[in-house]
Amino acid sequence: MEVPEKDWQHVEQDTQEIGRQIFAHLQDASPSILSRDGWDERLLTWCMRDESLKVGLFRFIDVLPTLTTSEQVVHHLSEYLAPHEKALPGLFRWGLRVASRRDLAARALAFAVRRSALRLARRFIAGATMEEALRVVQALRRRQMGFTLDPLGEATVSEEEAEAYHRRVLTILDALTSHARQREPSPLLDRDHRGPLPSVNVSLKLSSLHSQFNPLDQEESVEVVKARLRSILRRAREVGAFVTVDMEQYEFKDLTLRIVKALLDEEEFQGREDVGVVLQAYLKDAEQDLHDLLTWVERRRASIGVRLVKGAYWDYEVVIARQQGWVVPVFTEKWQTDLNFEKLTRLLLEHDDLVRPAIGSHNIRSIAAALAWARHLKVPAEALEFQMLYGMGDPIKDALVRLGQRVRVYTPLGELIPGMGYLIRRLLENTSNESFLRHSFAEHWSPEELLKPPGPVPGPSAVSPAPSAPALGEPPPFRNEPELDFTHEAHRRSMHEALVTVRSRFDRFYPLIIGGEEVRTTRDLVSRNPARPEETLGRTALAGLEAAQQALDSARRAFPRWAFTSPQARAELLFQAAALMRRKRVELAAWEVTEVGKPWREADADVAESIDYLEYYGREMLRLGKGQRLGDAPGEVNEYLYQPRGVAVIIAPWNFPLAILTGMTSAALVTGNTAIMKPAEQSPIMAWHLMTIFQEAGFPAGVVNYLPGLGEEVGEYLVTSPLVDLVAFTGSRGVGLRIYELAAQTKKDQRGPKRVIAEMGGKNAIIVDEDADLDEAVRGVVASAFGYAGQKCSACSRAIVVGSAHDPFLTRLAQAAASLKIGPPEDPGTALGPLIDEEAYRKVLRYVEQGRREARLVLETDVSHLKTGYYVGPTLFAEVPPAATIAREEIFGPVLAVLRAAEFEEALEIANGTEYALTGGLYSRSPAHIERAKAAFQVGNLYINRKITGAIVGRQPFGGFKMSGIGSKAGGSDYLLQFMEPRTITENTLRRGFAPPEGDRA
Ligand SMILES: Cc1cc2nc3c(=O)[nH]c(=O)nc-3n(C[C@H](O)[C@H](O)[C@H](O)COP(=O)(O)OP(=O)(O)OC[C@H]3O[C@@H](n4cnc5c(N)ncnc54)[C@H](O)[C@@H]3O)c2cc1C
Repeated sequence: MEVPEKDWQHVEQDTQEIGRQIFAHLQDASPSILSRDGWDERLLTWCMRDESLKVGLFRFIDVLPTLTTSEQVVHHLSEYLAPHEKALPGLFRWGLRVASRRDLAARALAFAVRRSALRLARRFIAGATMEEALRVVQALRRRQMGFTLDPLGEATVSEEEAEAYHRRVLTILDALTSHARQREPSPLLDRDHRGPLPSVNVSLKLSSLHSQFNPLDQEESVEVVKARLRSILRRAREVGAFVTVDMEQYEFKDLTLRIVKALLDEEEFQGREDVGVVLQAYLKDAEQDLHDLLTWVERRRASIGVRLVKGAYWDYEVVIARQQGWVVPVFTEKWQTDLNFEKLTRLLLEHDDLVRPAIGSHNIRSIAAALAWARHLKVPAEALEFQMLYGMGDPIKDALVRLGQRVRVYTPLGELIPGMGYLIRRLLENTSNESFLRHSFAEHWSPEELLKPPGPVPGPSAVSPAPSAPALGEPPPFRNEPELDFTHEAHRRSMHEALVTVRSRFDRFYPLIIGGEEVRTTRDLVSRNPARPEETLGRTALAGLEAAQQALDSARRAFPRWAFTSPQARAELLFQAAALMRRKRVELAAWEVTEVGKPWREADADVAESIDYLEYYGREMLRLGKGQRLGDAPGEVNEYLYQPRGVAVIIAPWNFPLAILTGMTSAALVTGNTAIMKPAEQSPIMAWHLMTIFQEAGFPAGVVNYLPGLGEEVGEYLVTSPLVDLVAFTGSRGVGLRIYELAAQTKKDQRGPKRVIAEMGGKNAIIVDEDADLDEAVRGVVASAFGYAGQKCSACSRAIVVGSAHDPFLTRLAQAAASLKIGPPEDPGTALGPLIDEEAYRKVLRYVEQGRREARLVLETDVSHLKTGYYVGPTLFAEVPPAATIAREEIFGPVLAVLRAAEFEEALEIANGTEYALTGGLYSRSPAHIERAKAAFQVGNLYINRKITGAIVGRQPFGGFKMSGIGSKAGGSDYLLQFMEPRTITENTLRRGFAPPEGDRA
């Protein structure tokens, strides 16, 4: 609805007046968290002066509840605060130094620190027990304030945890109800303009109700969450409680709204008006979501509660979107959020017949604007509720009560460890540069300043601007291809459609392509769906030795011309191929789902990575193709440049059937070599698609050839041929070493020794340190060990757990692994699909048998409901000795060995004690241990506090050493050099005593 200018002016005048009234009520009050009373308050004041000290201190507070000894507390405190020593007060520095030398002092310091942290936490968390929470609720009531209780929980990583959360909410509802019966009535709190209000109020999070809450798995997420929420709403009706569903990260927003609407549309809940949702004004989508909600409510003819907040995950949303290359879903200027908040406030109040508006803010300007709009729209005072967080903005709450407004306090209940995420969010919010509370209570900005209407402010943006345009003729700087964001319905739909399209193209025949010609052979390779082996995807001509020789001759013939094609022209063809791949990306991902059994996200990521290789190596060649001028001596010109090696044979695996093949082949081609692609026997169709993209992009005939064949036959023939100059291989260690050996034997007429680039296996470990964040560690290990059923060379196959972290980690890990959804990858919700073929299946089962003899089987998953397909469920062994076969040999399957280590150094020793050095990971919150791992963890790719799979081109160049690989890293700046010979050319430019000026040739 359009608002006339004069109304805006009236409302603005009222906002100023009401704002000043609120300020007048505050007088000199200061919420205790931002006062300067205790030393923990003072620490926060120092933090606001020094951003890096703030990060250090908050990280320390985050890890503190997991530290069990005084020594650990003092070590961590020193590790986090030592870099900021100068910013700390002298007394604190002295205390820290004494404590690190003396046991008694350490204990005293640890005690004081713990007590302070606990006090800090208690400012924001009402208590760990129901009794404590009830005392807080009672105290709030005495101050004429209502409550909504929020059960804090750890991240829900398993269905046991989801069920426990569900039960907790039910228990809380019961406890609050019996307590509410004993309360004195309060006209301000117990009624609104429509009648009595529920006496009990809880807030909950849907991601806590289902461990596999996943926007990609809409149907199952909706069903599982609805079932648990349904029972909560039934109990809420019995006891007369109001339930608000909190809003979490952006990825869960649509799913959350969908579930609430779907449930309230069910017959038994029609007419229910005691349920609420949350809208976050920092989201650019928020206004549309509100309109959709209003339309739905209108149709439903029963109101819903809407708590309007600005949003608690701003930093997270910005970082994740930037990391993924996605559009940032939140406003990036604070005033935009504030403005949107006021706009949505008005919309809510204009529709107070459809919604029960609750304004969740501690910002006096936002609150005053809400009151002014309510006055303007003649919304009764009782129709509007103000909600604020426990421990924040207390004087503002009191002021609103004095103004006769209903105030409800969001009151978290929980233990300290599960509450840590919540506490840190609150500390960040209170000390943020943009925080209203900080500006008003810590920095004492004037009321005039604080009440200004939201609008642009001069100064740099909170988010860095987009990079500037490239120079003329240059491609734009390399950027990773964003993976598809499957939270968007459009992407999910296009993948569903692509799967249907792909299915309609099953049973085709794919010939070899040699010298630009299609070649048929007498034998075929059959591609099967690993999830349904009886299903044939297509047939590919199987090359024999004759075809292999033909391909070699064709590549040899094409070489001289291609070698002299300019690097720019070669790079341009890679960019063309990238553009074509981008156009076909969803279909390619769908082929990958069916041919090698990859779940959606991972199949899509493989296609994105392929595009990255084309774009990245294209640019790398432009850089290297320029050559270099060396030295500046007069009278001579020294040039350093590269030439291709010759014919490259590319032997690729099936587990990244597009990305690895694209990476190795495009590197060979762009550097001027001609190539023969020999894909894995299990994934020839994916390779055929790549071949057609190369052809369509315009690579000349013979420059790249497509030759599916058997490794031991065609593979060996190619590797031993004297016509070959380079072999790029990715696969198992056994085959890699055999290729290395065969390639080393030179033959008559061979141009020179062959170069071998080989990516081989790994026996990758993740160390879970004693102080690790187990929410993160469990999720990271599960993703690393069981993603694509463990069939990645980077997969985690050993978890080495330090000290007291072992038992809780193992329990949660086993439950989390058991909660994974196993099934056909075509189902978007599948977390774990089948193994690639029967041979792989039998091999993995043999390792499981071996594990039973060597260690304690903790988890074995029954997959008998899957009648067809090569499924092995997540399998976990504990108490695995480091020398056991299952702790030493690479197992390409979902089998994880958990090993114990008494201390961190022992864990490092175990981790390094294999013949491999590919990937490794560490979950730790000790800066010293992180530094130690950086120096001593012997792996090609070390990941700290994240999963160890999913390396990204250009950002995490990938590859190992020891028995994990020969050569340099894929997706890194040294990679192309291996495909070329460097040459130096020196020209004497001095003739008869004179030389051309600097930079010119003779
Ligand atoms: C009762 C209650 C329940 C809540 N429930 C939820 C919930 O379910 N989900 C949820 O996400 N949050 C929830 N919150 C948290 C709430 O989002 C924050 O407390 C709130 O954003 C702080 O806003 P403010 O108006 O108090 O403070 P202000 O200081 O005015 O605003 C701070 C907010 O501005 C936004 N912001 C900061 N910097 C920028 C920037 N550069 N560009 C754009 N925007 C920026 C952020 O949202 C930040 O939190 C709840 C809050 C309350 C009071």
